Amino acid sequence: MPEDYECPFCSIVSGRAAASVVRETEATLAFADLNPATRGHTLVVPQQHAAYLEDLDPAVGGQLFEEGMEIAAAVRESLGPDGINFFLADGEAAGQEVFHVHLHVVPRYEDDGVQFVANQSRADREELDAVAERLRGAL
Ligand SMILES: [Zn+2]
Repeated sequence: MPEDYECPFCSIVSGRAAASVVRETEATLAFADLNPATRGHTLVVPQQHAAYLEDLDPAVGGQLFEEGMEIAAAVRESLGPDGINFFLADGEAAGQEVFHVHLHVVPRYEDDGVQFVANQSRADREELDAVAERLRGAL
């Protein structure tokens, strides 16, 4: 990233860039996604810059999720969606495009055309146990 790169979400947090703010808390800012997947698509970001989850204070991560839950409840009450997805991309391979952690709250409506596609296939128990063991070793 170039040295003069200005994080677009830090620009919004600081007020240098416009946003349709839903709510600001001490740790988080929730605002309407500029390119909404559906009506009411909202982003929740930490006030403090953190590019990736590993850079985020876990306590702030908890507040980010709590705020996402409250935004989801407000979306349900005010817009009446049929469902809601949370989506968080951590890393380019995961689809992260802005390198400041952000939780998408995406209202879902019947036939809205939004797709989160994964080609999942059943793994055998040996493989699942091996993966679980690796994860336990890393915790
Ligand atoms: Zn930032």
